[in-house]
Amino acid sequence: MLFLGEAEGFSGKIRLFFAVDRDNRARTAMETSNTLQKLRKFLEGRVGKAIFDYNMIEDGDTILVCVSGGKDSYTLLNILMALQQRAPVKFRLIAMNLDQKQPGFPEHILPDYFKSLGVEYRIVEADTYSIVKEKIPEGKTTCSLCSRLRRGIIYRTAKELGANKIALGHHRDDMVHTLFLNMLFGGKLKAMPPKLVTDDRAHVVIRPLAYCSEKDIARFARGMGFPIIPCNLCGSQENLQRQKIREMMEDWDRRYPGRTEAVFTAMQNIVPSHLADNAAFDFRGLTLDTPVDEGDIAFDTPELPISGTIPLSVETA
Ligand code: SF4
Repeated sequence: MLFLGEAEGFSGKIRLFFAVDRDNRARTAMETSNTLQKLRKFLEGRVGKAIFDYNMIEDGDTILVCVSGGKDSYTLLNILMALQQRAPVKFRLIAMNLDQKQPGFPEHILPDYFKSLGVEYRIVEADTYSIVKEKIPEGKTTCSLCSRLRRGIIYRTAKELGANKIALGHHRDDMVHTLFLNMLFGGKLKAMPPKLVTDDRAHVVIRPLAYCSEKDIARFARGMGFPIIPCNLCGSQENLQRQKIREMMEDWDRRYPGRTEAVFTAMQNIVPSHLADNAAFDFRGLTLDTPVDEGDIAFDTPELPISGTIPLSVETA
């Protein structure tokens, strides 16, 4: 098991000033870089904690790190490489990019970037763009077929390269959005887990950014000046339902800061006996002797240990 350490919560912000003279500019650059270092330390701590909590990385692992050219995957690779330097276990990282042949894809950016980092890498070329365009009628969302094709190629590449793990750049917001997407549109209480086996049972998928917020990642990516490749080259719009969920969460977070974090914490504290799934909890076989986390207190006013501006008193009859 690997423990990479924890960092204190990040409370700073990358400060941007409009410098009016050279002294100010020098001071600003220094402050920005100090803040960036703090943010890096914070993100490394978050990733280290997620790796530890879910035992994501073990000695001898070969990890295929999927890099799309977006802010999340650049951050993932960067932080994993930093942690690799001081990890008490040895693991190998291979960065991978899938060139899906979207028109205008700048194919030199990622190989150049990987070379500059000195990381082992593999670029896989596969024209999934044409397949998707051919199979999906104009105006329909192409993402589900595209992701399925991409998944198959990633698994195949992991096998070819002898990678036992696949690291993806999904973060806490992605995981919470998926939970709501499945709940509101799919009728399932299911999100995106920090760690799972692939559907062909050949690899373990890990999401080391599980404890990182999208905001911090975006700030880090801006500060690091990653060569971002736009994600709309295929011309597809973001899935409408996912877009709605994103807007809903952003609105909640604006009005009641910390809600996304609270939902994520809830995902780590599920109480099957207080839901309604017969497969997760044997309600039919329930007797007075069945052990439960807590008994039924439905007649009490719930104590909600949530800080923030949400009204805390919940009236019950
Ligand atoms: S946005 Fe384009 S490249 Fe990304 S999953 Fe959807 S169809 Fe594929």
